[in-house]
Amino acid sequence: MNTPNDRQSGLTTTRAHSARVYDYILGGKDHYPVDEEAGDAMARHWPALPVHMLENRRFMHRAAHFLAEEQGIRQFLDIGTGLPTSPNLHEIAQEVAPESHVVYVDNDPIVLAHARALLQSSPEGATAYVDANMHDPDAILDSPEFRELIDLSRPVGLMVIGIMHFILPPDDRRLIARLLDPLPSGSHLAMTIGTADFAPEEVNRVAQEYRQQGMPFVLRELATATSLFDGLELQAPGVTQVHSWRPGPEQNGIDGRDIAMYGAVARKP
Ligand code: SAH
Repeated sequence: MNTPNDRQSGLTTTRAHSARVYDYILGGKDHYPVDEEAGDAMARHWPALPVHMLENRRFMHRAAHFLAEEQGIRQFLDIGTGLPTSPNLHEIAQEVAPESHVVYVDNDPIVLAHARALLQSSPEGATAYVDANMHDPDAILDSPEFRELIDLSRPVGLMVIGIMHFILPPDDRRLIARLLDPLPSGSHLAMTIGTADFAPEEVNRVAQEYRQQGMPFVLRELATATSLFDGLELQAPGVTQVHSWRPGPEQNGIDGRDIAMYGAVARKP
């Protein structure tokens, strides 16, 4: 039976957790009452939150498709995977090229349990799951899963989607640089970055709610968000709000004030 704090699994159900709040807001089933309370409080501060989160997820879909289809990327490292929501990254990559490899990384035990069960690869490709913290990039790069699945002589797609608002400066630049360091030229970084530039009052209230729930949270202005891609070549259209990055028909009619996330894809020279 689950106890509120299951020490063995590291699962904490007495405090809200970002992955489960995100799952709750996106209409998933893998969360606890404490996550619902936190999510409800956040959506009261900013009713656009579900639209914003869905558009972050859809940016991931388009960025992954762009990397697989137009840049020929066949191996991906995904930091902060979240609870599996179809289509997941490997489904997009393997639809383009079934032989694609995807290494997923997250530090939430619930994500871990679901990911092992649901992030199953195509027979031709491979997926693996690493239980690690972005604050310890060497644990990711030294993991047997990364070493086995990622061929460092070929370009890699590094996905950092919906997680940078939890990674405070000055660690942010150092961690991204460390993860990019072993990847060869032609590798790409796809990243989304939370911002209060378009609905400052509401989005700052949501940030405050996360902090009160014990989750560190940072929002960045356009110049700061853009500087996180320094040293890389931004692919067109550069850093935009996520819904404006190579939009499809689904993005028609979205109000920019509802989107508190910048996104971009950039190439390592
Ligand atoms: N990338 C997915 C999920 C974003 S939710 C998407 O965009 O749809 C953010 C995820 O990051 C959560 O699953 C949370 O558990 C994970 N996360 C937060 N901080 C982390 C850290 N320091 N290291 C690893 N994962 C982290």
